[in-house]
Parts: sequence; structure tokens; C-alpha cells
Amino acid sequence: MPFKYEELGLSNTKAMFEKALNEGYAVPGYNFNNMEQLQAIVTACAQSGSPVILQVSKGARAYANSTMLIYMAHGAVKMVREELKSEIPIALHLDHGGDFEICKSCIDSGFSSVMYDGSHLPYEENIKITKQVVEYAHARGVSVEAELGVLAGIEDDVHAEESTYTDPDKVVDFVNRTGCDSLAISIGTSHGAYKFKVDRIEDVPPLRIDILKEIQQKLGRKYPIVLHGSSSVLQEYVKMINDNGGNLEKAFGVREDQIREATKYGVAKVNIDSDGRLVVTAIIRKIFNEKPKVFDPRKYLGPARDELIKMMKRKNKEVLGCAGAYPSIE
Ligand SMILES: [Zn+2]
Repeated sequence: MPFKYEELGLSNTKAMFEKALNEGYAVPGYNFNNMEQLQAIVTACAQSGSPVILQVSKGARAYANSTMLIYMAHGAVKMVREELKSEIPIALHLDHGGDFEICKSCIDSGFSSVMYDGSHLPYEENIKITKQVVEYAHARGVSVEAELGVLAGIEDDVHAEESTYTDPDKVVDFVNRTGCDSLAISIGTSHGAYKFKVDRIEDVPPLRIDILKEIQQKLGRKYPIVLHGSSSVLQEYVKMINDNGGNLEKAFGVREDQIREATKYGVAKVNIDSDGRLVVTAIIRKIFNEKPKVFDPRKYLGPARDELIKMMKRKNKEVLGCAGAYPSIE
């Protein structure tokens, strides 16, 4: 099923990021693996008038099937245009592409944007493969996100014990030599629900906004910077999970005011995945606990979807600042 992304009603990230940088907000990168998550993401973004990047990881392709995912994304665009009557730009993006082949496979099947993540490789090797992906992608109008520096934490197949901050002295050389359209950097965000090895939320270290400022200065104000691992690990949902038989201990995330601050210094895309996972798990646990007779999946997946919409609309408005960037339907 080879598609060009334009045929699916998708956009690459170029105009999205230009507008975001001009107006000082960030575009959300929300991950999906199933129908309810996807419905929640596009509904929340259409209602709040926010641009959106639908993200698919290698794990999501394995879980939901790569053919199924393309048609789901196409269906989501149709739902936004025909049912919700919204014209927000929608990108379909590969999150953490591990090699050239997976990037090529996504580009050939209709993705409008891919990430090649060579952050774990030696510098020159990262440049070599990123450049190869960029050449293939740009010939087809597809955007490429690359990564320099290493985030700690775990997310699907991506895992690192310790973080290595991005070296501001390398970013210009990297971007010039690879031609990547946006750059994911490491300034203290982290993947997963256990972002920091601390006992109390008060001890969570702040982001290195000083490094971000230096990177922005070097790349210029028009270059889009990306933050991964930017969930706040919302404590109300962690509590709801634990109050209903779960066991998440010392799960802390990045403070929302820090993400908002980062959008002032060139961060044009923010990835939020764990917060959505927590919301879904919290609502399902609560319903299972309070209503033991329920056995219709719609009775717990539906409320989980409603809560996801609420959470994402709040993120778009209060954390990313992108709500209202396009006409909203509410
Ligand atoms: Zn990531």
C-alpha cells in the first residue's frame, strides 16, 4: 500500500514549525497505538484548534500492524475534515526510527515525517545515516527529525541508563552536514514514567534551560528544536492508579512550567506519551475497582478516551500554548 502522504491529507512539519516558532508555541507529538488514543488526539486537537503530530513508534507498528496504522491515520484525517469540520494540519511521524530501512518503509507507506535516532552512535556515524535518511525523505517532501545527545529512561525499544546533554558546540555542524529539519536535544527530559532517581517530587532537577538557550543562539531563532520525554507524570493519575490496586512508586516527570518556558527558546515540538498512558490506566483501574460487574470494553475505554481528550486539551492550552493557533471548533 504505497501512498504519498498528500494523498492521505497529511502535512509535513515545515509550515507547522515555522508558524510555531513565529508565534512562540510548540506542536504536540502525541503517540498512538490504538483507535481510542487516536480518536482522543485528533478530537482534542481539532477542538482546541491545535496543529498535531501523530506519532508511531516501532513498537506501535508491531502492536497495531503497520498497514493498519496507515489506514487508521487516514481515517483520523477524514474524521477531522468531514465530521469535525476542522482544517488543523496533521502530520504522521515515525518516532525513534532505528535505521534507514524503517524510515524508508514509513516514507514509502505514507508518513509525512520521520525521526532517525542515531543519538547512541558515534557522532560521525550519526551524521552519515541521518544524511542518508534526509536525502531519501527530502526527495519525497518528507520532514526529518534527528537527535543529538542522549536522554535517560526507557520508552518501548529506546533505553539509556544515563543522560548526556547535547553539546551546543556540535549542533550547527550536525544540522549543516545532515540537512535535518528539526533536532531533538537532551537538556534533562527523560523517557518513561520514572524520569528521575529521586524520592520526592521537590527533588526533581530543573531542565537545563541555559543549554537550550545556547543551542538556540547557535541554530538561530528559526530552527525548530524538539523535546522528547516531556510528560509531567501527572500525580493525580499516579495516585488514582495506586488507589485502585496499582503500584507506581516514585514516578515523577518534568514540571509543566519548565516545558512552557522551553517553548520560548526555540522548542517547536514536545513529545508527550507517558501522561496519556497514565490517564488510560488510571481510568480503567478506577472503573474496574468501582464497577466490578462491567464487562463491555466500551464502558471503560470510552471514559478513558474522554479523560485523554480533557488532558490533551489542557496540555495544548496551558503547557504548549498551541491552542487556538488554527480555528478551533468549540
Ligand atoms: Zn523519545
